[in-house]
Amino acid sequence: MSYEDVKKVWMNGRLVDFADAKIHAFSHVFHYGSAMFEGARLYKNRHGSAFFRLDEHIKRLYDSCKVYRMDVSLSMAEFKEAIVETIRANGYDECYIRPVIYRGLGALGVNPFHSPVDVMIAVWRWGKYLGEEALEQGVDVCVSSWNRMAPNTFPAMAKATGNYLNSALIKMEAVTNGFSEGIALDNAGRVSEGSGENIFVVYGGRLLTPPLAGTILPGITRDSIMTLARDAGFTVVEQQIAREMLYIADEVFFTGTAAEITPIRSVDHITVGAGRRGPVTERLQKDFFELIRGEAPDRYGWLTPLPVEAAVR
Ligand code: PMP
Repeated sequence: MSYEDVKKVWMNGRLVDFADAKIHAFSHVFHYGSAMFEGARLYKNRHGSAFFRLDEHIKRLYDSCKVYRMDVSLSMAEFKEAIVETIRANGYDECYIRPVIYRGLGALGVNPFHSPVDVMIAVWRWGKYLGEEALEQGVDVCVSSWNRMAPNTFPAMAKATGNYLNSALIKMEAVTNGFSEGIALDNAGRVSEGSGENIFVVYGGRLLTPPLAGTILPGITRDSIMTLARDAGFTVVEQQIAREMLYIADEVFFTGTAAEITPIRSVDHITVGAGRRGPVTERLQKDFFELIRGEAPDRYGWLTPLPVEAAVR
């Protein structure tokens, strides 16, 4: 990943140069992980450039802040404007969007109430998260020895930076052992999610995914895939998934803004299904990417065009 072509970063209402996008070492967030963030995408398509479900990402960001009692000074509409402004300043027609709302420089100590709520918006070019080939060939993953945090520890519906220490443990263990990614179980031993992706299983002719019961992020790609799958005639069920179902399923795949829809070809060195992308995964990828590329009608209103003046600068 390279940030060479990142020109400007939005910080508390000002566009600053990449080199000046800094926060103070006494900021609360640096000591206590007190930040909420998002990851969204602007896609280039045949009609121009369009955000994928940006309103839902902003809503989730504001929901995360609500859980952690952070009052954001901007309205959601103003936040969206700020994102457009940041993209315009960088001249991108396609990018990853990373807003962060964090407790800044105030008073150190665990109590965050004495530190201001600051906002940063970064955008950069980001290709395929798990590799270019992954979308077609699938990835080899493991079940992590680390569990996802239990519901009454860290609220999983909030996309808080602190949660990603758990994700980092899962990811480091996986890559150290030669896998692309790790799947975490929940505190009861059931399948939860990847370090940065939700998970789906094709089993018994149905598409299964763990419920929003306190250990997974309510993924926007997850929601999109459930909608596309139901429209394509598949039965989709949110239910508890046993670890061993990952081994005996016909297909398993990840969903996420970064990972998009990534097939899983093996879990713990056990081949899943035919050991390559299965037909259900392929069909859902097709429906997803055709919509994003503007080749299929945007029948759910998921795409928001980037204002034209932003695209041409
Ligand atoms: N779970 C975790 C832990 C994640 O970090 C992400 C990525 N934001 C997801 C699931 C997928 O969510 P989304 O589809 O909204 O990107």
